[in-house]
Amino acid sequence: MPSTLKTIVTSLLLTVPLFPVLAQRAAINAIRQEDIKRDLYILADDHFRGREAGTLDELKASVWLAEQARKAGLEPAGDDGTYFQFFPLIRERVSDKSTIAIGNRMFTLWKDVVVYEPVFADVNDPIVFLDDPATATAERIRGKVVALQFSDKGINDPRVHIYTRYGAIVVSTWARKLATLGAKAIIFVSDDLAQKAYPRATQYNNRGSYQITGSLFHRQLLNGVPILWLPKETLDLVRLPGQTLQARIFSESFTYPSVNVVAKVKGRDAKLSNEYVLFSGHQDHDGIRNLEPGKDSIFNGADDNASVSVALLAIGKAFVQQPPRRSALFIWHGSEERGLFGSTWYADNPTVPRESIVAVLNADMIGANAPDSAALLGVIPPHRSSSDLVNIALEANAKGPKFKLDTGWDKASHPEGWYFRSDHYPYAKKNIPALFYSSLPHALYHTPADESQTLSIEKITKFAQWMYLTGIEVANREQRPALEPGFKLER
Ligand SMILES: [Zn+2]
Repeated sequence: MPSTLKTIVTSLLLTVPLFPVLAQRAAINAIRQEDIKRDLYILADDHFRGREAGTLDELKASVWLAEQARKAGLEPAGDDGTYFQFFPLIRERVSDKSTIAIGNRMFTLWKDVVVYEPVFADVNDPIVFLDDPATATAERIRGKVVALQFSDKGINDPRVHIYTRYGAIVVSTWARKLATLGAKAIIFVSDDLAQKAYPRATQYNNRGSYQITGSLFHRQLLNGVPILWLPKETLDLVRLPGQTLQARIFSESFTYPSVNVVAKVKGRDAKLSNEYVLFSGHQDHDGIRNLEPGKDSIFNGADDNASVSVALLAIGKAFVQQPPRRSALFIWHGSEERGLFGSTWYADNPTVPRESIVAVLNADMIGANAPDSAALLGVIPPHRSSSDLVNIALEANAKGPKFKLDTGWDKASHPEGWYFRSDHYPYAKKNIPALFYSSLPHALYHTPADESQTLSIEKITKFAQWMYLTGIEVANREQRPALEPGFKLER
């Protein structure tokens, strides 16, 4: 069709509500690959320095998103008539003033030694080296420093052989047991596998821990008992009979702002427009880390989660073109990567009445893996919060992108626990029907190589259209999606 004629027909369809299906088809055409590509390449550019939570970079990205939302015709729905909802992020980290020595050797923090989590401790005690930590007794280790080498012995967790998980699994398996038996400090020395993850730990654990009031996750393993992780070459030194640890470890804590960007498109029904379909994503990623000196150190998070951030802008445009009966709420959550903090905060402190949110359509990473594959989580019990909502989303997939759906990752038995790792979770916990759209992780996940040019723009566009078709149906139905009887999330 010639483009002028197309424009006339499109605008006719949009103004004549007699043809809602055709009008909806015209609105879905507002979700355009060109826009998604342009926005993705801007948001995942080095300019935003990886959008790390609580930094100026996250704020800068948030301002950019709010400005795009405003230009697209979305109204502000944050605090005080703005697009923003700020919240305090509390960070605790090990102080550079800390000193650690074994025997006569002084250790350099984050090079020769990783302090596993923030702690205050003053230790000057003998080291007991355990060949097998399962043999530890209170008699043997109370008041002493316990040292052991990493090992998967006695651990059943199937993820223990993934090197990025290995360290955390071994530490969490033994640290509490040994602390309960009275260890004054615990030293883990790398074996070959743990040594592969050691450089990463020097870059991650130095960042410390983050929380907000009301955090769903408590990451601190021990209170007051320091956990040290040493590289493999220290094994002989640590094992020397009569060896001692001298450690004075301090921590510091500070509070800084993170932010949710909140916008809305008002529905056209006088009554139902007081209810909201919530489209959700996160705008933050992992900032700048120096994992590989001399190489790219900016974690641009193009898939995670610039892909969804720009998809929400496109969906917003489609809603502005043809508003349905209910209103649509769009939230670009902050601090997801630090522990789902933006969504936890919003679910506790919503800027619209919580009961008015009829469904949450959240997405995280929608541009990678096979072009025709996707996952929808929140479908299989116990994750299934609403059969109504699930059916609408599955019908929307059949009508729209026709993705082949991978169901494995939604199972409670899946070792990755993917369902619990994005922003729908705090809402689902509050019994709001919720779904999680994802194209699932991949080799570039949480690396500096998660860049725009690795993604399929077509796939992101299809996901956006799928979410749009789901949301528009929820927004137009007479009844809101019913909560599944007996729905309860347990983990
Ligand atoms: Zn993510």
